[in-house]
Amino acid sequence: MTLPDMHTAEPIPEAARAEIERLLQTGDLFRYTAASDAPVALLEAEFAALMGSKYALAVSSCSAALFLSLKALDLPRGARVLIPGFTFAAVPSSVVHAECTPVLCEVGDNYRIDLDDFEAKLAGDIKAVIISHMRGHTSDMDAIMKLCTAADIPVIEDAAHSLGTLWRGQKIGTLGKVGCFSFQSYKMVNAGEGGILITDDADLVARAIIMSGAYEHNWKKHPVLLEAFSRHQNKLPLYNLRLNNLSAALIRPQLDALAQRVRDGRRNHDYVADRLNRSPFIDVPAPLEGEERAPDSIQFNLVGLEDATIAAFARRAEAAGVKVQVFGQSADNARAFWNWQFIEDLPELPRTRAMLMRACDVRLPVRLSRAELDAVTDVLLNAIETVTADAQPAVA
Ligand SMILES: *Cc1c(COP(=O)(O)O)cnc(C)c1O
Repeated sequence: MTLPDMHTAEPIPEAARAEIERLLQTGDLFRYTAASDAPVALLEAEFAALMGSKYALAVSSCSAALFLSLKALDLPRGARVLIPGFTFAAVPSSVVHAECTPVLCEVGDNYRIDLDDFEAKLAGDIKAVIISHMRGHTSDMDAIMKLCTAADIPVIEDAAHSLGTLWRGQKIGTLGKVGCFSFQSYKMVNAGEGGILITDDADLVARAIIMSGAYEHNWKKHPVLLEAFSRHQNKLPLYNLRLNNLSAALIRPQLDALAQRVRDGRRNHDYVADRLNRSPFIDVPAPLEGEERAPDSIQFNLVGLEDATIAAFARRAEAAGVKVQVFGQSADNARAFWNWQFIEDLPELPRTRAMLMRACDVRLPVRLSRAELDAVTDVLLNAIETVTADAQPAVA
């Protein structure tokens, strides 16, 4: 079995082509040109319906959605925003962009937020929380929502890479005040770039819509109470973070395929996880009770190995055709908190650091066949066997 190409994207559904051709013919690319039913507006209506949310706002990236969410919360300059120490650099960046201060909390071996540290840090004058469901791993959202609700602190869900994940049957992204998703190429829905935020809060979404660049009376093309808009007219900056119609035309047909992709991704992930977990040197953390994942990659911890052996494992797997990224062991990794040097007084997080130094990340595109999954898993298991055999002390 030859190894699959793990890095290329998948074809965009045929259904997108006619609409893109129409947009090219008419040049109708700006979301606010058409009087009604622009592709971006239709995407917002469809995405809100899919998620069971009242409102959706499509924007240029998930980072833009996070930034606008913070802005729409009207936080004072310098407000402390609690985020996990294991996330993508875009998250602390969105906090800095919104002129707030990122506060990092520890993340455990199972890639979930350390609740003791979360609770302790929450008490430190925190004005908002961003929960990153990193690679789809869902922290204990019951405990998090309970703590934040009791303290009256708004929760923004960074569900960039978690579209389709459920927590106790509820869709991830609908638990907090705002949920943000990405349509960048490595996520479940691929438009190259793009993002969307969802919320049930009419006033919050009205503010976000205006700031996203609905200048003058373009907000009339959004289905939100007029009263909320007129209150904010001309009082908010316009950051122009809109999505264009071509991107929406790429995204809309992919939403129809989402349920199947989620099923395929979960089946593939769980199959590979079962095989990997049979190695004594590999641990794929189990989901929390109540979590149903929607993965297009797999993360696992290497158990009881020295840094040099971990590096040798990654080298061997890559030489055999499967790229393994050990989050903490590649220079410049954007998910290693010590590389976020744009944060003032960057703290040390010993638990998160220990996890990042032996947590591996492997892409697992949902399209892979069983035979391809076996070929990928064989490479990983062979690599671990080889390097652990070498590492064994010689016996007489
Ligand atoms: C990809 C990603 C982002 C950023 O999304 P963009 O659309 O590229 O801005 C943020 N958070 C997480 C967890 C991500 O995986």
